[in-house]
Amino acid sequence: MGLPFSSLVIRKAVPAPMNPETNPVVLLTEDTWHIVAHSRESYMAWCGQKITDRRAHSRLSTIGRENLCPECLSLFIERKR
Ligand SMILES: [Zn+2]
Repeated sequence: MGLPFSSLVIRKAVPAPMNPETNPVVLLTEDTWHIVAHSRESYMAWCGQKITDRRAHSRLSTIGRENLCPECLSLFIERKR
């Protein structure tokens, strides 16, 4: 089913500069934030966690690394090297 996310609204809500390379989109599922490739189309986080309970979306710099899923964080750090 899926909510009618508008990319326009998302862009407006996120202040520039926002680089997905350094500041990826994160989704809150259950009680953990996970990195996803695209906020609208992702049903699975980088770590393989299915996003079944999409409570919120944000950006990594907004939620802070300490609140991110450890597996997603390690994948993110590896990708940056
Ligand atoms: Zn994760």
